Amino acid sequence: MRNAADLISTLRRIEGKGYKAYKDIEAAYDWGEYTLFIDHVQGDPFASPSLVRVRIPQKIALFPKDAYSSKSREIALRDFLTRRFLYSSRKFCRGNRGTGNSGIILIDRPGQEILKRTSVLVTESYIEARFVMGLPAHGRTVAAMHARAMFFDELPRIVRASFFFGNLNGGMLREHIEIAEDADFLRNQLYSLGLVAFVADGAILPRASGIDPRPLAKGRAVPFESPQSLRVQVELPNRGTITGMGIPKGVTLIVGGGYHGKSTLLRALELGVYNHIPGDGRDFVVTNPYAVKIRAEDGRRIEGVDISSFIANLPLGQDTTAFSTEDASGSTSQAANIIEAIEVGAQVLLVDEDTSATNFMIRDHRMQELVSKDNEPITPFIDKVTQLYKEAGISTLLVMGGSGDYFDVADRVVCMVEYKPYDVTEQARIIAEKSRTKRRREGGKHFGVISERIPLVHSFDPSRGKRDVKISSKGLQTIVFGTHTIDLGAVEQLVDTSQTRALGDAIYYATKFMDGRRTLRDIIDAVLKDIAERGLN
Ligand code: ADP
Ligand code: MG
Repeated sequence: MRNAADLISTLRRIEGKGYKAYKDIEAAYDWGEYTLFIDHVQGDPFASPSLVRVRIPQKIALFPKDAYSSKSREIALRDFLTRRFLYSSRKFCRGNRGTGNSGIILIDRPGQEILKRTSVLVTESYIEARFVMGLPAHGRTVAAMHARAMFFDELPRIVRASFFFGNLNGGMLREHIEIAEDADFLRNQLYSLGLVAFVADGAILPRASGIDPRPLAKGRAVPFESPQSLRVQVELPNRGTITGMGIPKGVTLIVGGGYHGKSTLLRALELGVYNHIPGDGRDFVVTNPYAVKIRAEDGRRIEGVDISSFIANLPLGQDTTAFSTEDASGSTSQAANIIEAIEVGAQVLLVDEDTSATNFMIRDHRMQELVSKDNEPITPFIDKVTQLYKEAGISTLLVMGGSGDYFDVADRVVCMVEYKPYDVTEQARIIAEKSRTKRRREGGKHFGVISERIPLVHSFDPSRGKRDVKISSKGLQTIVFGTHTIDLGAVEQLVDTSQTRALGDAIYYATKFMDGRRTLRDIIDAVLKDIAERGLN
């Protein structure tokens, strides 16, 4: 293995040469306290920055085993260390040192969620960080003195400040790890408690703004407070006893006046599939991990989905048992989104009237009178939601301030008043009794079939131009898979651009299981099993 002196002499030799000369530093270096891997050198100063790793032996990093002794802790520690690296690089890295990306040292940038990521690995023998460096250039020539400062001055400081246990704030690290462990514990408890979600008393649900996911400032946010009838107490391994609102399985309606916090509650529940960082306010807001946000997505493509439970008898005899379209309507897209979620194992559906197709959600008495069922292909969700739970065990959490018809099908009704929830199940029941709706149920006896699809491998072509495999992502919402653009704009539970990137790769990985026999669900299970057993790495 080369060492630091070798890097100095190579840099001396290539100083002032064309940028391509940087290729000569691609190697592993024994740096004393750690090993430095320059894995891939960028082609020019404007290209994606170079890929670099450092591996610090535990006998130098000295992390105590209990910092990564469980899956939850390990993921939280890796997340914490990624954040530390980012913080230290802001502190010690000078930044711009010439053309293009010259001078940057960056790692994956986590947000409010603690996610499993590959930016930092922790094992019993070492800590490894993967990051990028913009190798500096004057114009298009090697700026070796700047590179030297980055490798010899900035990087060692970043590494020492981030990955030497003794240099970390132990209290902060412990809180990070313990919160993640508690949240995972709480999420696991949901099953035995018969709940689909839990919202802790005192939780801060509203965000700073529509584009800023940090919590709304303390004085301005009304802390969450469970109604007495839904209050559940849980004993957490680190935090001890907490209380909060438990949402039982079944059909739950969230009602209330406009602007009283319904969507904010649902949004917090959507993201309750993830753990949150300390101080987020949603630390102990957890949801069944198989909860899926469902919305209308008009204009989306649909391929061979059996939406006949919701939509049948289309004009001109179009088949809906294997429905395909390049341009779905609001209602068909919402139906397809539900069926697809169920197809791969959703246990809870989260639906907000704000993002639903009205004609998919309701069809009231008067409309039934005017437009007969024979002329209406859509069976509205209201006539299917109970069957979904009774027959398939799939719960629904629905924000619905606009239609009281849903009182008939709700197992419980929670009313938001000035950001506080009230259990109004009994009142809603009395009202439903007193003013009976004349609408007829249109859902038939059963929910209908969920046909599982078998994807064909040749329909997933990752090639683009000269490359056999070219998968890229643009921001949070777009994957370009080969020459196909996949629009994830309506996948509202996506929170991190690294997830988008991982999804693109996961689709490609999934193709190896597509044998013409396995269903989509089997294939996804196989991918997730490999990730669970062998790591995301
Ligand atoms: P709804 O869906 O009932 O119309 P929203 O959930 O969209 O209402 O909330 C309306 C506004 O109130 C949003 O700006 C939101 O950030 C704010 N808000 C929601 N919950 C709270 C809370 N607990 N404390 C303070 N403001 C809140
Ligand atoms: Mg709303």
